[in-house]
Amino acid sequence: MTTPLALVLNAGSSSLKFALYDIAAAPVERARGIVERIGGAPRLKAAFRADLPSVARDLASEAVHDHAGALGAVLFLIEASFPDARIVTVGHRVVHGGTTYAAPIVVTPEVLAELTRLIPFAPIHQPHNVSGIEAAQAAFPDALQVACFDTAFHRTQPWVNDTYALPPDYYARGVRRYGFHGLSYEYVSGELARIAPERAAGRVVIAHLGNGASMCAVEGGRSISSTMGFTPLDGLPMGTRCGQIDPGVIFYMLAEEERPIDDVQTLLYTESGLLGLSGLSNDMRTLEASGTAEADAAIAYYTARIREQVGRLAATLGGLDALVFTAGIGENSPRIRAEVCERLGWIGIELDPERNAASAEVITTSASPVEVRVVPTDEEIVIVRAAKSLWEAGDAACRPFPPDRRLSDTKV
Ligand code: ADP
Repeated sequence: MTTPLALVLNAGSSSLKFALYDIAAAPVERARGIVERIGGAPRLKAAFRADLPSVARDLASEAVHDHAGALGAVLFLIEASFPDARIVTVGHRVVHGGTTYAAPIVVTPEVLAELTRLIPFAPIHQPHNVSGIEAAQAAFPDALQVACFDTAFHRTQPWVNDTYALPPDYYARGVRRYGFHGLSYEYVSGELARIAPERAAGRVVIAHLGNGASMCAVEGGRSISSTMGFTPLDGLPMGTRCGQIDPGVIFYMLAEEERPIDDVQTLLYTESGLLGLSGLSNDMRTLEASGTAEADAAIAYYTARIREQVGRLAATLGGLDALVFTAGIGENSPRIRAEVCERLGWIGIELDPERNAASAEVITTSASPVEVRVVPTDEEIVIVRAAKSLWEAGDAACRPFPPDRRLSDTKV
């Protein structure tokens, strides 16, 4: 009997992350990896959970110049490694679900059209998510394609926290604060409910600090407010994104410096943040290791903004029971966590330096009124659970997207 597998895809601007699960029962991870530098000098890295050796190999740039090519390389690897497997569903991380999608959904032609319509809402991310879905539809015409949204978790936010002070017509047309990283927040708050249910039932701030970074106020498991806004550009400074900025700066660049809009967009999305400030790197490990004044200044700016947001989000929540660090930097950098918490004694945070250095589950002292935790995130498991349950539901609403080649078969 063939094993039903689910593939999870997370398509970024120049990368395609994937994870493969056996979904015969509760999802069991079989492999996980990434194709990096798509369109440049592509490279495939994968790790398996079974007795198979890890893979790290350069790929032919002619064959892997887009997401479809990257997916082809992943498929080749999967087919070679799991000859008896059958991919029955593909779950996609999609950054923007607009106001319509508050839950995972099967991708129909109408859904794909709506996701394409949302491209201007997340111009740097959404086009790649759509390409990832199209590539998967072509590769697996019979598999159920499921979209899971980074915005969905935040649809519970009250109006006062998801609106801008603009004429109300803008809100109605979708110009509002969406918040992102929702799949990560869903996972982390679920984990917190499992390991620390009393804290999870209260007022929690989660800091997702990866290449992209944001924070979220969660009350009783529901998102109340977040730092990202209309697009994933707002809020905290990130690897290459500026985060919160006075819109007047953008008017100045456009009107006084006469910079083309595309240039300004590139500057704010890809040349700013930690990279822009340090002039060195967007990678926190590199910055921490370098010790230059510019790198230290970039880190100081970064941690100051995170600390500020702990205060803002705690004010929104009316207090704080737990602060949780997650994602690459949040999970692995004692220095960043210590710098953020350094001036937060007033709010009830008392860090334990040894626990913090060890990235322990709880990094505060036993007497600390607010508990600070490190919870490793897992966005892929959230996606695969959703894809599995929609695949198992398998009703008429869950038909796979009709592949082009079948449509062409019907031509007379
Ligand atoms: P993505 O948003 O691409 O999923 P990650 O969550 O993997 O990103 O986070 C990547 C960031 O985490 C990078 O800036 C990287 O330097 C940082 N990081 C990973 N490990 C460490 C570490 N041990 N110390 C400091 N930063 C780290």
